[in-house]
Amino acid sequence: MIDCNQDDRGTVRSMPFSRRSFLAKTSCFGALYAVAKLIPLPALGAELERDSRLSQTPIVDKGFASVRKLGNGLYATISDPSKGNTTLCNGGFLVGKDGALLIEGFTTPAGASFQMDALRLVSQVPVKAALDTHYHFDHSMGNSFYGANGIPLWAHAAAAKRIVESYSPMQGADKEAVLGAFEKRVRDAKSETVKAHAQSDLNALTGVFTIASATVLALPNRPLDPGKLPMTIDLGGVSAVLESHPGHSGTDILVRVPEQNVVYTGDLLFSGWYPVCFDEKATISGWRATLKKFAALDKDTLFVPGHGQICGQEGIASIREVFDDIAGQAEKMYHAGVPAEEAQHRYVVPEKFKDFPVFAWGFTIGPAITKLYAEWQVK
Ligand SMILES: [Zn+2]
Repeated sequence: MIDCNQDDRGTVRSMPFSRRSFLAKTSCFGALYAVAKLIPLPALGAELERDSRLSQTPIVDKGFASVRKLGNGLYATISDPSKGNTTLCNGGFLVGKDGALLIEGFTTPAGASFQMDALRLVSQVPVKAALDTHYHFDHSMGNSFYGANGIPLWAHAAAAKRIVESYSPMQGADKEAVLGAFEKRVRDAKSETVKAHAQSDLNALTGVFTIASATVLALPNRPLDPGKLPMTIDLGGVSAVLESHPGHSGTDILVRVPEQNVVYTGDLLFSGWYPVCFDEKATISGWRATLKKFAALDKDTLFVPGHGQICGQEGIASIREVFDDIAGQAEKMYHAGVPAEEAQHRYVVPEKFKDFPVFAWGFTIGPAITKLYAEWQVK
């Protein structure tokens, strides 16, 4: 039994993410925090340490997130989930002579406020808008900060509806009603593996429920019609292109700064993580096609991912390898006649990806496999 009072940060940091450590820890820490504690942020890659665009010292570092300059008027907010839930996802901001664009609503209004404060450390230009790269809770639950401060909030046209559909039913709901089916899956699991997967899903969903219940939801008030993208915005000496791509959530919009080869990808890129694929609008073939487009961008492109550390093309190559590996293992099972329900639990994390966090099995690998099966069955 683990002593819940011990400071285990050093232990966790030096320990690879494993199911056993995950289960041991989650027995005594609260839900999402337990998940997040096991996801320390890796240091910048050696190549990026030498990249002159990237400032080696953050302009501000609060532990749960730090903000770093990565180009002319470009800043990245990078979260360290092991140090708290205030932001949880990454974001950033773009600053020109005439205006600024903030990226992400984060998990809490305090997270959005933190990023606004960081912007004000470097510039007093008016804020043109903030953007939720997609509707997921960790990118949108801090939106009310923007409402309270009169900042227009942009997002994919479907984002507001999906925030309401996904999170408002959790508000005022009986915890049992939301989580009961997931608790039952843990109880009824037929093997240790299936039990561990079900427990990881329950932990993640408990965290989402806790956060969604505690949040005053606020919706983007400037819907962006994906049919009218790409759209170029000029902030005065810094211009960016908003683009819509398929893959992660059906509401994904990224911010690309072509003149400086920088892309804020939202969750279309998980850097050094297993990708979160559970969304009903997530498509594996669409996502892999999007990643192929990222791989075709300039070799010196800097990517600010939705989660994980800033990376270059090596980060794109690595998530593509993860998808290839999932698809490779799934395809063998598919041809061997293993049913999807069973195949989704049989994937084995290979040695080379053993340090890649799995947020929850049923949010990442499981649905990647069932979606691949569904795509193959259509053919
Ligand atoms: Zn997401």
